[in-house]
Amino acid sequence: MVEPVICDDGFTYDRQTIEAHFQSELETDYRQQNQFTSPMTGDIITNSLLHNRNVEMQIVESLEERNMSVLDEDIEKWHRRREQRRESRTARDKEGRNKEEQQERPQPDIAAPIQQEEQPSAERVRVDRTVTDGTILSEHDLGLSVTLCNEDERCSLHYASLVGVGNVPRCMVACCAKRLDNDNDWCARCGRLACSRCLEFHVTEYSALNPNQLQSICFECVTQIIDVMGDTGTEGQVRAFISNVRLRRYNDSLTQRAIELQDYQVKMNAKAQFGPGLLELREEIRRMERAKDEMQVQSQGADAGSQNSFRSIAECEEVCAVLTRHYNDLMERGCPEQDEEGQIRYIAAISAITDRLERAQLTLLEMRSRPSEVRSSGSRNTVSCFDGIDGGDSFDNLESICEQLRMQYIDLRRSEVPADEFSQIAHIEAISEVSARLEDAERKLVESRSNRTSTERIDLEDPVILDAIGVRDNEWPLPFDLSYPTARMENQLDLLRGALAQQLGVSQQKYDDEYRQRRQVLTERHNRLANEMRHIQGA
Ligand SMILES: [Zn+2]
Ligand SMILES: [Zn+2]
Ligand SMILES: [Zn+2]
Repeated sequence: MVEPVICDDGFTYDRQTIEAHFQSELETDYRQQNQFTSPMTGDIITNSLLHNRNVEMQIVESLEERNMSVLDEDIEKWHRRREQRRESRTARDKEGRNKEEQQERPQPDIAAPIQQEEQPSAERVRVDRTVTDGTILSEHDLGLSVTLCNEDERCSLHYASLVGVGNVPRCMVACCAKRLDNDNDWCARCGRLACSRCLEFHVTEYSALNPNQLQSICFECVTQIIDVMGDTGTEGQVRAFISNVRLRRYNDSLTQRAIELQDYQVKMNAKAQFGPGLLELREEIRRMERAKDEMQVQSQGADAGSQNSFRSIAECEEVCAVLTRHYNDLMERGCPEQDEEGQIRYIAAISAITDRLERAQLTLLEMRSRPSEVRSSGSRNTVSCFDGIDGGDSFDNLESICEQLRMQYIDLRRSEVPADEFSQIAHIEAISEVSARLEDAERKLVESRSNRTSTERIDLEDPVILDAIGVRDNEWPLPFDLSYPTARMENQLDLLRGALAQQLGVSQQKYDDEYRQRRQVLTERHNRLANEMRHIQGA
């Protein structure tokens, strides 16, 4: 079926078939005027036919549903046949009209020139609304009337998904290729699907009944219109304005976006390349820090490791409380041992705990007197939520970091408090550290969220979107005599590719430097730790 039409009987036929049927009935002379029989029901019907767009759309889609290799052939064949039918029909209609006119009017003495109806063409451009004639153009109005396509010449969504890279429908403007979402529409001129950004140019239909109805056309169609406009007079002025102001503005934002996408891709590549190495190094540093703590405990006495290591007033208070409880326990219990050695151990324990309690209480007083400095002036490094977690290099996975820390915190809170004093203190320290990191992560998350809303949201998660830029495989068959890409479009694409190539080196250098710097910082920390451990071992 090439041209599906609906008949009075409600059934859909191919136009050629049903017209042949009507013709054969006309030729049998017993027919009253405009009375025909339905081939399906046998009822009396008229010969009026209605274009069935639904069925036509289904045909297009079922053609497209086949595999890609036969796709464009089929589509083109089908379009060619439809086009031929349409042309022969308009020719027939015109003939009929001319005949009627000839019958109505007496033949003029001199043959009147047959008024040639101007054919829809890519060359037709008329300046209708300009700032110079007092009409103020709205922001996106180009002030032009041009040839637009019919609704049935629009590309189907399904077709777009087949030609889109990775079977994802993309904006068919070649240097955009943005993944389509709910914000897409058809170009009223070329009929291709495009994103809202690429459709920001408004024109009116050249021979429209309502000349005020603005329609959106795509960026590439605007570049084609520029090519057919004259460069003198009002038309020249409007042409210069469109190309120097409108197109330039669009181009700048398009280039900016492509560069951002590329930068993101370079960043992800750098992360994949250097991230695992950094993570390993960071984990080793953490292992070394723990080992060093243990060595210190062994070489300088049991309490050295936890001395002055409080990260918050709350942690310090808890340690004080634990120590006080132990001190009271010891005093209440009295010396359990009868022998002298045991008594000495008891006294040593009391004196050790008194020492530590005094130090902790002193620290607590100090911390309370300068609460704002506590975290930064603590004896350990400033807490960062990234320590030893993900390779700690970006805000990209802040949410998962927060989640991990929250789980850790809950686990620690739920876990049983160890019985012996040192483990208890370690336990409190662990809780305090996790909660400090969680706090840090949540703060950073809030910060990054507020930063993100201020910049334009772009589809950064889409890794293939860059590859789709410039792809013109299996392009939608264009209406009337449009032929894309034009030289100007190719030039546009070359400029974009040039800008991307230039920026690629800049991005690579940036992330190389960033990772090298991080590696440097970590290596220094690693070496410092190794030195300190050697020093402790030597002492
Ligand atoms: Zn677009
Ligand atoms: Zn277009
Ligand atoms: Zn090492």
